Amino acid sequence: MPTRLHSWGLRTALSEFREPAFLGDLRFAKAPLSTLAVGLGRSYGDSGLNDGGLAVSTLSLKRLIEFDDFGGLLRAESGASLYELLQFLVPRGFFLPVVPGTQYVTLGGAVANDIHGKNHHRAGNFGHHVTRLELLRSNGERVVCSRDEHAELFRATVGGLGLTGIITWVEIRVPRIGSSLIDQEIIPFSSLDDYFELSEESDSTHEFTMSWVDVLSSKGNELRGLYMRGNWAPSGERAFYPSGRVARVPVKLPEFVLSTSSVKAFNSLYALKGRMQSGASQTAYRPFFFPLDAVSDWNRIYGRRGFYQYQMVVPPAHARDATRALLNEITLSGEGSFLAVLKHFGARESDGLLSFPREGVTLALDFADRGAETLKLFERLDKIVFEAGGALYAAKDARMSPAGFVASVKGGHGTLREFAKYRDPALSSSFWRRVMESEASP
Ligand SMILES: Cc1cc2nc3c(=O)[nH]c(=O)nc-3n(C[C@H](O)[C@H](O)[C@H](O)COP(=O)(O)OP(=O)(O)OC[C@H]3O[C@@H](n4cnc5c(N)ncnc54)[C@H](O)[C@@H]3O)c2cc1C
Repeated sequence: MPTRLHSWGLRTALSEFREPAFLGDLRFAKAPLSTLAVGLGRSYGDSGLNDGGLAVSTLSLKRLIEFDDFGGLLRAESGASLYELLQFLVPRGFFLPVVPGTQYVTLGGAVANDIHGKNHHRAGNFGHHVTRLELLRSNGERVVCSRDEHAELFRATVGGLGLTGIITWVEIRVPRIGSSLIDQEIIPFSSLDDYFELSEESDSTHEFTMSWVDVLSSKGNELRGLYMRGNWAPSGERAFYPSGRVARVPVKLPEFVLSTSSVKAFNSLYALKGRMQSGASQTAYRPFFFPLDAVSDWNRIYGRRGFYQYQMVVPPAHARDATRALLNEITLSGEGSFLAVLKHFGARESDGLLSFPREGVTLALDFADRGAETLKLFERLDKIVFEAGGALYAAKDARMSPAGFVASVKGGHGTLREFAKYRDPALSSSFWRRVMESEASP
């Protein structure tokens, strides 16, 4: 009996659904049905959906397998969430090498999208810290791959959108921490040039950097934002912070919540709060890395139609002009975004064939789904991104064109042909069929 599944942006799919309890119970669907492993469903668009196929949830496969606290090496089943891993690691004086904006993603999902965090300029992507992983292929083979063994399959799997096999376990190197506290600094800024200056100055002094910007305040070079930077506090408490009580979004929100004037008011309040908290302070890791986790189901704020997240990266040579052009285009459209995130990616080359991060500036923002108007705006934004030699992030996407996907993969058609050699033919996703089963396929 097919089940309706949805992504974080509330894109939906009807799929057969299974949640095996043990690695030995993992099965692929019988042809012609395709299979996709799924984690906590935190991908925004359709890359974690498999409409008309089988979705295999890994959420019961979350056992810790090994931990070497001398070398800082952790091996766990792929359905373990970063939250569960932190619960184990933090009291022992370790953390994860890279974390995204939520701790509710699985190890498998973190590898399949080769995720990035606030320390990209220092630590690179999640995949850079993976030492080995095991893949279950549809022919029944279990393949352990690393940079030394089956290195090409490893490169295809990191950032490989779950299409090279079901990842059963992952081994990662985890860094030591002196405390679970962050020495943070919040600096309000008022122009895009200020942002670039702050970023240049902070990337060498701070392990974690990012900024929040109010796109509705953007006019020419003017841009209101809060620059946040931090380092681990060398000593202090070493505590895991459990989820505890979280606020919930009511099921039915009145229409006015998403009007441009409400978004403007929200952003002004947030800016004011930021200005009041500006300066140096010490904070627990949880509000610093995962502020949105404080509101459960916040994705429902956009109503039943859901929303899109648009995340792009543009190379350093065009970063300033392309970012300005994107912000201006969004302001002109009047389509608001509650929180937009602006950050510099460092120069470290991604290991994954299809990995998204690359040197440059990345901007990520949410848009309520207002149908054709929103999609037309994205086409105008795509033009700016691709003319600047930039790329879009598949984990956030529900609408890029096949040509846009080819442009977003480093090396384009050549890389996709290479990837095809390692893809497991029994695996597919709604995203993959949308961008690959068309004239743009290599
Ligand atoms: C609030 C929020 C903030 C975020 N911030 C960031 C950020 O800062 N940086 C960033 O990079 N991303 C960010 N993301 C996106 C998120 O990190 C990725 O989409 C991540 O991959 C989600 O993991 P998941 O467990 O929910 O996987 P799902 O969304 O369920 O699946 C994602 C992909 O992983 C594959 N997959 C999952 N498990 C396996 C497995 N065992 N074997 C093979 N393939 C598998 C799926 O097939 C799919 O292709 C954010 C998302 C949210 C909601």
